[in-house]
Amino acid sequence: MPSIIKSISLDPKTASIARRVPNFSKFVRECLLRWDAIQRSPDCPVERLGHPLTGDFCVPAPTRICLKHWPDGVPRMEDWREFRTMVEFDDYHQDRDRLLQGWPFLEDFECPQEWICHRAEMSNHAQIDFDNMEIEGNAKPTAREKKSKIRRLWAVLWSRN
Ligand SMILES: [Zn+2]
Repeated sequence: MPSIIKSISLDPKTASIARRVPNFSKFVRECLLRWDAIQRSPDCPVERLGHPLTGDFCVPAPTRICLKHWPDGVPRMEDWREFRTMVEFDDYHQDRDRLLQGWPFLEDFECPQEWICHRAEMSNHAQIDFDNMEIEGNAKPTAREKKSKIRRLWAVLWSRN
C-alpha cells in the first residue's frame, strides 16, 4: 500500500507522549481506523458481506474493526480459539453440564458468548491494545539542531578569527 505523508502539529505535552510510541505513524493509522469505526454505524463488516458468524460473533481481526461484536476491542487469539472449541462443543451436545465439565470456569458465565465478551474486555482495558499493533520497526529520525542565521553568521565570523 502506498504511503501518504501527512504532517501534524503537536504541543509539548503530546510531543512528549509521541516520543514514547515506537512507531508513531502506525499508531496514528490505528487511531484513525478506530475513530472511523466509531463514526460509522456500528454494523459488522463480516455480516455486511454475508459471511457466517462463529457462535454469533465475527472472527476478530485487529485490522477490521467491528464495534457490533467487539465494542471493547478484539479478544486474544488463544481466547478466540478456546471460544470456537466451546461453541462447536455446545452446538453439538447442547448440554450445559457437559460444557462445564470441559470448561469449569464457564460456571461464572451464562454462556460461552458472555465469556468471550468478558475476555475481550479484559484484554482491551487500555482501549488501545499495543499487543495487536505492529508498531516497532521504523527508524526514528534524529532531531537536527537548527541554527538561526545570526548564529550561523556568528559561527563563520568566529571561525575566521
Ligand atoms: Zn462483527
